[in-house]
Amino acid sequence: MSEFVVSKASNLAKYLELPQKGKVIAEYVWIDGSNGLRTKGRTLDKKPESVDELPEWNFDGSSTEQAPGHDSDVYLRPVAIYDDPFRRGDNIIVLAECWNADGTPNKKNHRYACNKLMEAHKDADTWFGIEQEYTLFDEYGSPYGWPKGGFPGPQGPYYCGVGTGKVYARDVIEAHYRACLYAGINISGINAEVMPSQWEFQVGPSAGIAMGDELWMARYLLERVAEEFGVKVSFHPKPLSEGDWNGAGCHTNVSTAPMREKGGMKDIEAAIEKLSKRHAEHIGVYGEDNDKRLTGKHETASIANFSYGVANRGCSVRIPRPVAKVGYGYFEDRRPASNIDPYLVTGIMVETICGAIPEVDMVKEAVRE
Ligand code: ADP
Ligand code: MN
Ligand code: MN
Ligand code: MN
Repeated sequence: MSEFVVSKASNLAKYLELPQKGKVIAEYVWIDGSNGLRTKGRTLDKKPESVDELPEWNFDGSSTEQAPGHDSDVYLRPVAIYDDPFRRGDNIIVLAECWNADGTPNKKNHRYACNKLMEAHKDADTWFGIEQEYTLFDEYGSPYGWPKGGFPGPQGPYYCGVGTGKVYARDVIEAHYRACLYAGINISGINAEVMPSQWEFQVGPSAGIAMGDELWMARYLLERVAEEFGVKVSFHPKPLSEGDWNGAGCHTNVSTAPMREKGGMKDIEAAIEKLSKRHAEHIGVYGEDNDKRLTGKHETASIANFSYGVANRGCSVRIPRPVAKVGYGYFEDRRPASNIDPYLVTGIMVETICGAIPEVDMVKEAVRE
């Protein structure tokens, strides 16, 4: 197996110091045809004040599973701007939506539909916090830091672990944390996970559409940082199918304005009741291969049934103990897999809790071609 070619930061550093003569670099980032990320850079004459000042752009969609070769132009419409932790200075990263030439949203542009729901239910002021779990792999395809051709000791010492042999790749995680803060991502924390070389970061609370935007950008920064360390990121919900190893999820914490106020528990319970009636439909948008993760073992509930409970990590939905104690706050949906599109998950959440709108159907949106 070939080794990764890792660029040497020491060689790059002196070029990063070169003056840009007033020009600004904008790196446009978008979601491709298979939930991956793509990016390309362009020069601007000045730093834009808002997304409206940014040019629309396009790319060859036939190379990204996003368009046929005979009609390959896909358009990039800027929707959010972040400070660029790699190039720094006035340079920026731009999150863009993908649009087809005929004026329809590209097949994986689920942000457009999600945003319609968020706009329609603005008054609910829905906040989300997503716990992104992921696994790091080395160039030989083993989880990063695992013994060559073998396995580390059983799970137990790794969750929030400290010390050699109990935690892997802390440098990658620290670099990513700092990059997110610099970019302006509302990253709320990090922790090592139950399986060695599995980690989690949390983004939120973020309101409405910003949740999806910030989670995608945090994933981009992670891929980009890990690339510099020669480490591979996997968002697969069950990266190791053999053996007693935890899967990876994207627990989604949710609150509407009434849930956050005194007496909000009745709104939390009403929302959970609504979720229970659409279990199968929610599972349908909660990520691929999630059946391999939601087994009823490893701190998950079975994919077949909906359940909820206070402080119970074996349920589909958990009400945190402190929330039950004070009687208001938020709930946690533990079902979403690590490979979700957060626009689909936050979208269907608002659709279910606040009500459907005529022009959007998140179940159909998830399978739209
Ligand atoms: P866990 O105990 O499940 O590991 P974490 O601390 O990892 O929980 O994540 C909790 C998440 O909930 C954080 O992302 C946090 O921002 C989010 N959160 C906190 N309060 C709210 C709220 N009122 N509404 C939505 N999300 C919230
Ligand atoms: Mn967590
Ligand atoms: Mn976790
Ligand atoms: Mn959680």
